[in-house]
Amino acid sequence: MPFVEGLTCRECARPYPAQALHVCEFCFGPLEVAYDYAAIAAAVSRQSIAAGPHSLWRYADLLPADRTAPIDLGAGMTPLVRADRLAAELGLGELWIKNDTLNPTGSFKDRVVSVALTKARELGFKVAACASTGNLANSVAAHAARAGMESYVFIPHDLEQGKVVTSAVYGGNLIAVEGNYDDVNRLCAELTSEQPTWAFVNVNVRTYYAEGSKTLAFEVAEQLGWQAPDHVVVPIASGSQLTKIAKGFRELHKVGLLDGDEPPAVRISGAQAEGCSPVATAFAEGTDHIRPQKPKTIAKSLAIGNPADGWYALDEVRRSGGAIASVTDDEIVAGIRLLARTEGIFAETAGGVTIATLAKLAAEGKVRKDERVVAYVTGHGLKTIEAVSPHVGPTATIAPTLDAFNEAVEVQR
Ligand SMILES: *Cc1c(COP(=O)(O)O)cnc(C)c1O
Ligand SMILES: [Zn+2]
Repeated sequence: MPFVEGLTCRECARPYPAQALHVCEFCFGPLEVAYDYAAIAAAVSRQSIAAGPHSLWRYADLLPADRTAPIDLGAGMTPLVRADRLAAELGLGELWIKNDTLNPTGSFKDRVVSVALTKARELGFKVAACASTGNLANSVAAHAARAGMESYVFIPHDLEQGKVVTSAVYGGNLIAVEGNYDDVNRLCAELTSEQPTWAFVNVNVRTYYAEGSKTLAFEVAEQLGWQAPDHVVVPIASGSQLTKIAKGFRELHKVGLLDGDEPPAVRISGAQAEGCSPVATAFAEGTDHIRPQKPKTIAKSLAIGNPADGWYALDEVRRSGGAIASVTDDEIVAGIRLLARTEGIFAETAGGVTIATLAKLAAEGKVRKDERVVAYVTGHGLKTIEAVSPHVGPTATIAPTLDAFNEAVEVQR
């Protein structure tokens, strides 16, 4: 990796080599990948990126893994769509949806997994593993299959059937744990020391995994003609994605890819489900202390009660002038249906959280009509079909005759 200088502790700034390390041995702070930005600035250009592959690997100069042998199912370069009909309903102006439902396994997790497993293989790991709320399980199982790696994927036992089947189909080991995500994560932390040849993408190679989320910022800027938006709305589970989107916009400025001389002032707002809202609660209370919660929400992909990067997400949001709000299960379902009805995009519950939170922040004047806004919709609706199946169905069920149709349906003329 010509541009990776090593790892640095986010708390005490001690340097480490770019190995399979994730916490500082002095202060237990998380480690962060450090790059030589001057060298990247000299090497990259808008043209060199445009000439790259139509996937997140076009940004390899700003990623910590080797582009010459990626584990690649084509994650990234998802559509950024202008959402005028949704904007009109919410009283907003220029609104865009980053449609990350269209990744290979239907969620943004394909970004982080492609980067993490590519790096893991480089570091000599033989087995792909993860603790998952569902989408990560899909993605690790699929990318491991693609790479011919063995996989061990750990999930809470009560996940949506869509996520169980779409993980199991790839043929790896899928372990359903009788507990919630935080229990699964604790078990995986213990297994990490017991199985040194296993790469748990979000535990022992988490430092590399997290970097994949920066591509959510890179793509949005490129798709907006190398401009940063004014305000982004991002769902929060562990908080990693949100912090890396912030880092991504800053990096684009550092390496000279953005319009303008000043670092972009992107307001960053966070979205949580009320039934699992430790970061939103700390934001509302104005404290730095994130109290763990026991999750109870239909937004299972966001149901992390003790978020590893929660404090860092809170800090990014506060420093950017954004807000964090939470929404009820009913609001989540309404958010899914609103996005589907206005823009033709079917999102999973996490997308419902983002859209419902966007609606709430718009109504409170915290997301404004004069801002260019991007909402990150991170998972596909077919994964959580049980969230909406009680609420939608056929307009009518009829015999195959004209009379039956005319009797049952009043056609608007
Ligand atoms: C995992 C996940 C997130 C959030 O991820 P974090 O980086 O842990 O905050 C958002 N949306 C979906 C659909 C996810 O699966
Ligand atoms: Zn440290």
